[in-house]
Amino acid sequence: MFQKMLIGGKLVGKDSKGKTIDVINPADEKVFARVPKGTEKDIDNAVAAAKAAFPDWAATPLEDRQKIVGKIADAIAGNAEMLARLMTKEQGKPLPESMGEMAWTEGFLRHYATLQPTGRTVQDDDAFQIEVRRVPLGVVAGICPWNFPVLVPFWKIGPALVAGNTIVLKPAPTTPLTILKLLELCNDFVPAGVINVVTDENDLGAALTRHPDVAKISFTGSTETGKKIMASAAGTIKRLTLELGGNDPAIILPDVDVKDTAAKIFNGAFMNAGQVCMAVKRVYVHKDIYDEFCDELARRAKQTVVDDGMHQGADMGPIQNKAQYKKVKALIKSARKDGTVLCGGVVKNRKGYFVNPVIVRDVKDGDDIVDQEQFGPILPVIRFSSVKSVTRKANGLDYGLGASVWSGDAAKAKKIASKIQSGTVWVNQCVNIGPHIPMAGFKSSGLGVEQSQEGLDEYTQIQVMNIAR
Ligand code: NAD
Repeated sequence: MFQKMLIGGKLVGKDSKGKTIDVINPADEKVFARVPKGTEKDIDNAVAAAKAAFPDWAATPLEDRQKIVGKIADAIAGNAEMLARLMTKEQGKPLPESMGEMAWTEGFLRHYATLQPTGRTVQDDDAFQIEVRRVPLGVVAGICPWNFPVLVPFWKIGPALVAGNTIVLKPAPTTPLTILKLLELCNDFVPAGVINVVTDENDLGAALTRHPDVAKISFTGSTETGKKIMASAAGTIKRLTLELGGNDPAIILPDVDVKDTAAKIFNGAFMNAGQVCMAVKRVYVHKDIYDEFCDELARRAKQTVVDDGMHQGADMGPIQNKAQYKKVKALIKSARKDGTVLCGGVVKNRKGYFVNPVIVRDVKDGDDIVDQEQFGPILPVIRFSSVKSVTRKANGLDYGLGASVWSGDAAKAKKIASKIQSGTVWVNQCVNIGPHIPMAGFKSSGLGVEQSQEGLDEYTQIQVMNIAR
């Protein structure tokens, strides 16, 4: 299979004999498709196409822009199974999770198709009429990671288009296929140049983010790359939305139902093989229930079927790419040194980047497996005895994306939750996100907001229209 890029309404890319990028199935490490290896010239062409399309798109009535976003949602719904199969092959997640990502993406887009940027009148009297308008910015650069290859791009495309901007998208190098296929399907009804996509081998991000004709960068990925992007945005004071790394703590008080809470924590930690920015990444459990809680997590981990995501019955697929697989393997090694591994580990005797879910206990803050974002199927469980010290530990890292507090007494949990420095704090649940819920990060977890009205407004510039009567 060979899938081209989309630039200025044209499918672009050399044929499969030209310079291409291999798309590898992480379940068998085999190349099953190719996409073009984009160049700086492709970035320039894509930005030029987006710039040329911008005035007409910005002038298109809001309802028509919303309709196009709704039609993208229709295209996803109408092709969900085909797209989900492609996604499982390139990303690794089980087919039902890929189907879930399609449904999720569709839902986010349908919500965006109902929103409009907030404008307001701040004065309207005999002397002045003063309106605060929200106008589009121009060309948006959308840079995406590999964990949600369709959802994350549309968290950018949806609001960018509704607000009247055009976009150049750069998918992650290891998951370009499904989004390219989907945007090809949308090319029949999205005006040329409004959405462009260029694929790379991790070498074109900087060319896109420093481009003088890019007005805003919306980036989802690691904190390390986010810092580089912030620096490259400085040249032309580009607007920025950064959704970066997280190391979400879960605090479990002694009055919880252990079985029920452990089940929810397990799901919140291991969905998508733990490769979720807002996954539970470190669990602090009160000493009174520590042993029981660890054992319950381990019991669930041992029941998990790790297999090729295309196989029926797979609960968890492989890690998405070799680099991440290596990182997770190193963390498992250090966890074995620092704590007690109750179960799981690298799956041997088969091809693919498979890891059985790892539960590690008797670890502490300062250990690599606690302090580093694992972004994989390994969960550290830390014992605590005082609420004051656990709150300090939860806030002790430079991350602040999500957190959760669990108790039989929700009011008590809320009191603790209000002391946590993170963009979202859940009580008695985790990883509950939605198109109407703003998503933001404290500290090095991000800048700005995605989703909801606040997220849409970030794709606009305030303009004051001040009219003397
Ligand atoms: P990454 O930062 O390595 O790559 C993300 C994207 O940035 C890729 O498309 C990559 O090609 C591009 N890139 C790399 N160098 C660049 C540069 N100098 N300039 C511009 N772009 C560049 O991240 P990843 O490994 O793909 O994803 C995993 C990370 O993403 C984790 O830390 C995870 O927590 C984070 N993440 C955050 C969220 C969120 O919403 N906060 C969501 C998903 C993933």
